[in-house]
This record gives sequence, structure tokens and C-alpha cells, in this order.
Amino acid sequence: MSDPKTPRKRTPARPVKAAKKTTSAASGARRTAAKSTARKAPARKTPAKKRAANPAGTRTRTMPVPVSGGAVATEPTSAPPPHASFGDELLKVDHLVKYFPVMRGIVFKKQIGTVQAVDDVSFSIRQGETLGVVGESGCGKSTTARTILRLIEPTGGAVYFNGQDLVKFNREQLRLLRREMQIIFQDPFASLNPRMTVRSIVGEPLMIHGIYESSGGPRYVEDLLARVGLNPEHGNRYPHEFSGGQRQRIGVARALALKPKLIICDEPVSALDVSVQAQILNLLEDLQNEFGLTYMFIAHDLSVVRHISDRVSVMYLGKVVETADRDTLYEKPMHPYTQALISAVPVPDPEKERNRKRIILEGDLPSPLNPPPACRFHTRCWKAQEICREVEPPLEDRGNGHMVACHFAEEVKVL
Ligand code: SF4
Repeated sequence: MSDPKTPRKRTPARPVKAAKKTTSAASGARRTAAKSTARKAPARKTPAKKRAANPAGTRTRTMPVPVSGGAVATEPTSAPPPHASFGDELLKVDHLVKYFPVMRGIVFKKQIGTVQAVDDVSFSIRQGETLGVVGESGCGKSTTARTILRLIEPTGGAVYFNGQDLVKFNREQLRLLRREMQIIFQDPFASLNPRMTVRSIVGEPLMIHGIYESSGGPRYVEDLLARVGLNPEHGNRYPHEFSGGQRQRIGVARALALKPKLIICDEPVSALDVSVQAQILNLLEDLQNEFGLTYMFIAHDLSVVRHISDRVSVMYLGKVVETADRDTLYEKPMHPYTQALISAVPVPDPEKERNRKRIILEGDLPSPLNPPPACRFHTRCWKAQEICREVEPPLEDRGNGHMVACHFAEEVKVL
């Protein structure tokens, strides 16, 4: 089903349509257009450069739009300036641990093991920043997100939001805090109640917090629907009457309803078509510019993460193995696992693609029930030595906030 409620004023919608026409007219022209548009894509600035280049607070972003066939079109878009520079630390995750006990037996239950889903994870996100989190399925990205929000209780560690450790919050304090921290789920259908109308879904957080009337009631909900590109007149419809992209817009509207400071986006575009992915990404960026939002953006698509993030953390088997600003991480990764991941990203240049070296990891991700000792990556690492099997490498700053957990970290140009 198409996504007919895309706002007509959205500039990126035009290049998508135009590129589709070009595709049907001549495939050769498409390749040429793809190459030229890919070349036009400017490198995004690092957070430090952004602050230096933009002290007055004006923010202009270029939003690449993936179109059918995987090409990337770019169109400069001026955006209002509310969060032009990154502010103070909004979220700090400090040695977060989440273990799940594995039980056996029905009457006499006995613990027979522990799944170490998240083990000693630390990172921080500044106000107005987008931190991308990448890694293979099962590496603990979503568990980290849910533990931060205390949708599941942490086993250890601390989570500071605006300087307050929310792990110590009681139920009522948490309820109030949740106005400031929201989540967008991966599956836009499963995350919406099929028995509720869209108006009720978007208005529900306001009802729960007792501010439905004071926020403007139905009028506010309709404004939210319009802001995310849905027709407010469709507020009485049910989730199954919408396409995947529209459902994700409903999820975005619900997350926005309480005007949060932080939104955790848990693979929000993984279940969507490429062109719809671009629309949702653009919407998220527009909303960030408009409302000064801070994002933790989880994904396994490295191109998507590169597009939207200011900094990126790479997770492997429940641990953060590398964190750096986006350009540094993609251009000079230091951890062997990051190098392998980035070497798998397709390059829109046939010659470069032919000549570059792919790093193929051998074996599967080990079980978090029984993770390898010391460096958890040593069973698949081509650089592993004795020390890697005996001593766990600490996550250390190798300069300019480039954090790496590896005994033999070195910069390698992969792309
Ligand atoms: Fe590879 Fe050793 Fe570095 Fe682990 S510590 S990533 S095994 S080189």
C-alpha cells in the first residue's frame, strides 16, 4: 500500500518521485543519476565542528533520500535553529548490566544459567545529539534501550537522566519521568493496539498523565497527526487501515505527544520499504530540528545510522566495543569488529566496490548464555592473540573521544 498522507510540502518527496520516473525511463540514466547524486552528498560535520561552525545557532542539514534501487538523492534543506549546538549531557549510562536468569522446572524452579544480555555498557548522549547504536541481532541493543527506560529492570549500573539516577526512582517518579523519555518501536503494527482508534492511541499518553484537556484535547491530537504527515480526519480509523509507513508515523505522533526530551528509536525503519524509510528518517530529523529532541537511534543498517547519527556506538555480545563521532568511526574504525561491519557496507561506486577488501567474519555470534572469556570477540577475530583470551580489553579513549576496547586497536581505512 502506498503512503498517500505524506505532506505535500515535504521537499524530499519530489526527488523520490522524480527518481522513480527516471528509473522507468532508462536504467542507464538511473545509474548515472545515482553516481552524480552520491557524489554530491556532503560529509556531515562532527559535533565539535558543528559547534565551532555554528555558534549563532543556525542549522542547515542535507537530507539524503534513498530512492528505489538504492541510489541516494540529496537536497539541501534549511531548518529552524532551536538546537543548533549540543548542550550538556542529557543521558549517561554508567556500567549498565542486564542478566536474565535461565530457569528449569515447573514446581521446583532452579536456575541453570544466566543470559548476559547487557554487560557493563557505558555511554552518554548530549542534549540535541543523535547517538546511533549498531551491532548484530542479539548483541543487546534493544535490551539496553529497554533497560534505560526501565521497561525491564537493570541488574546493575546506573542511568542518569539530567543528572538524576533513574534506577533509584520509585514508581511515581518513573511515571513522571516518562514524559521526558519516549520510545518508538521497531514493529509499527505490533506496537499499536488494534482495538483503539488512532486518535485514542495518540491521546492515551496524555490521558495517563492527566493532561489531555489542558494540552488542548482532540485539537492537539489532530495537530500532532498533521505534524507527522497524517490526515487528521483519519483519527477515527484503526491501525490496520494504514500502511506500514503511516503506522510508524502514528508511533512517532504518540512518542511526541508528551513533548519528551529524549526519544529512543528502536529500529524504527527496519520493517519499512527503502523509500518509506527515507520519509520516516526525514520526519525524525525535521522533528529533532523543530523540537530540539535528543535521539538514541538503534539500527543494524549502517547506512541508515551513518545518515542520521552524530556519534555511533558499536555493540558486540552485550558490550560496547567502539564509540566515536560518525565520520571518524566510518572512515577510521579501530576495532576489528567495526572494521568488519563497515567493510560490508555497499559503496555506490562500482570501481571502488570492486577494488576494496571485504572482511568476512567466520562463525556465528557466540551465545550470551556462555560468552567467550576476556575479549568476547576473540573467537572470530583474525588478530586474536593469547592476551585476548586472558585479559578483557578496557574501553579506552584513543583521542578525541574515540573509545575502543581492543588490545591491538589501530586505524584502518575500510571504505
Ligand atoms: Fe581482536 Fe584481541 Fe582486539 Fe579482541 S582484543 S578485538 S581478540 S585483537
